[in-house]
Amino acid sequence: MFCWKSAFYQNNWMAVYFSQVSLPLTLAICAGASQISPDGKCEWKISMDLSYKRSGMEIDMVEDIKRLKEEKDVVILAHYYVDGKVQEIADYVGDSYFLAKKATQVKQKNILFCGVSFMGESAKILNPEKKVIMADKLADCPMAHMVDIDKIHEVRKLYPDVSVVCYVNSTAEIKAESDVCVTSSNAMRIVQKLSNQHIFFIPDNNLARYIAKKLPEKKFIFNDGYCHVHKSIDRESVQRAKELHPAALVLSHPECTEDVLDISDFIGSTSEIIDFATASDAKEFIICTEMGVFYELEQKNPGKRFFSVGHRQFCPNMKRITLDKVKTALEEMEPELTLDEAMRVKANKPLARMLELAQ
Ligand code: SF4
Repeated sequence: MFCWKSAFYQNNWMAVYFSQVSLPLTLAICAGASQISPDGKCEWKISMDLSYKRSGMEIDMVEDIKRLKEEKDVVILAHYYVDGKVQEIADYVGDSYFLAKKATQVKQKNILFCGVSFMGESAKILNPEKKVIMADKLADCPMAHMVDIDKIHEVRKLYPDVSVVCYVNSTAEIKAESDVCVTSSNAMRIVQKLSNQHIFFIPDNNLARYIAKKLPEKKFIFNDGYCHVHKSIDRESVQRAKELHPAALVLSHPECTEDVLDISDFIGSTSEIIDFATASDAKEFIICTEMGVFYELEQKNPGKRFFSVGHRQFCPNMKRITLDKVKTALEEMEPELTLDEAMRVKANKPLARMLELAQ
């Protein structure tokens, strides 16, 4: 039985999601999804119906998208967290690191980015000669703004030997003030290679704490940023999901809080979660990251089952990207993402250092 009341009224993000994404897709997700747990809460036991059946209008739209991207020499890059229907029409789908690297390798003159603004900014920083278009210019990551330049300057004054390590989920302005960029898949490897003892890791507190625990030889200075999607995944919900699915392994993203990571069987970036689940002999998994990742998990693992821990695992910004916005962006070749050239040059240094150190 689907708990509409809970889905609509207990959760704002879900309501935003419903307003941004096509209802048929949402119904498809919900169809395989829910029951009432013993404590009366709406419990999602998602093994999503990801058939992603397209309506007649969407079939036409996909044909238009294919034609337009060829005609206009555009490559479509999409993040794992965008809607599965958008992932289906992308040329490349991946996590932030993969997409940043891919942006430097593609031959097309134009990049259409299906993701939030910091991702498009990274593509532009690394490829100034290419035109970068955002599928939705309002899709933005709140965490990317959770640190400011004054704070960086303050920390630099207090700790002259500090290395400012900037998670890729940050604005171009913040990258320009940082020493090196990292992603969740390469953060550990890169911080380990730095000779500095003090590390100011921005903006995500949870990822910083996860890395700091693994590298006790470094002295971390923490920032207060967080991803609201991963923060909303709480330990109780994970435990409840484990009770419902005792054979399932818990796979979590390091942006989750420490108490969730403590009861996880595997911790990794979105692509590492997909790789782990694909290589694993286990048949059931509880997924603690944004639900867009279910699309790739289901595509690669038709015989396995994936469960969510609740109904808050939606990033409303990622879900702003829809097929019709992709088509409109291709028709108009807008909105173009532009950056001040001096700032772009400064922001390129930590990104280029990341690509070099991550080898
Ligand atoms: S899932 Fe979290 S980190 Fe990713 S874009 Fe959404 S708010 Fe930002």
